[in-house]
Amino acid sequence: MHDDPSNGAASISIFGTEKILTGHAQRISLPKGAAIRQHPETPRFAHVLLSGLIATSLRFKEGRSVFTRVQSAGDLIEIDHVLGCYQADTVSRVLIPGVAVRIPFATLQSTIEEDAGLRKGLLRSLGQRVLEAECLSACNLVHPLEQRLARYLLDIAQRMNVISIPLTQGQLAQLLGVRRTSIVFTAGELRRKKLIDFRRASILIQDSLQLEQAACDCYRKIANYRVVDAGASASGDLALAEQQVA
Ligand SMILES: [Zn+2]
Repeated sequence: MHDDPSNGAASISIFGTEKILTGHAQRISLPKGAAIRQHPETPRFAHVLLSGLIATSLRFKEGRSVFTRVQSAGDLIEIDHVLGCYQADTVSRVLIPGVAVRIPFATLQSTIEEDAGLRKGLLRSLGQRVLEAECLSACNLVHPLEQRLARYLLDIAQRMNVISIPLTQGQLAQLLGVRRTSIVFTAGELRRKKLIDFRRASILIQDSLQLEQAACDCYRKIANYRVVDAGASASGDLALAEQQVA
């Protein structure tokens, strides 16, 4: 993103489209652990992620909560509101610190209404997400945890453009919806095979080619869904509502 603080204009990549948004664009930092609250009312601001990782968990009445959505660079946090819907019982947290550009929600909404290219990008991003969700629901039914963990690590590394992923094994357990002990055992197996290694509060991909061999083919399937998004820095995302970065 390129800022022009004099008039608040910002050039950002959103839905795989480079756009210049004018009017009170502002960079904000997303500190680790910050909670993003959700409200049914139309939010005042929209936030496009430039870096970092946000995970949204769905809470169930028995008290369990599972991460159902991960957002990274190029994703719009308030996309649910753009689409005219609102998902209750969800909480989003910043898992990996980053930066977002904040713009008035009304500005984004009017830009989408006026810009056919942006609307096309929005629909393409949603289409990718639907295909991804379908693939992952099948993946959870048929593929063992080691394959899914390898797939997840590769996906996060690709999204963040890093080989050292600043997530703990506890966070990975939440992201994959399994017990921490299962992740500790399975990640230990990948480490024993010298595909990954553990660093302080992060996981290092040591051999991405072999890790891809260890992953289920859902990794390639999902990556291919994004290929049609030529020039995109990231895919669009499903997201939430009014937010406050604590
Ligand atoms: Zn799979």
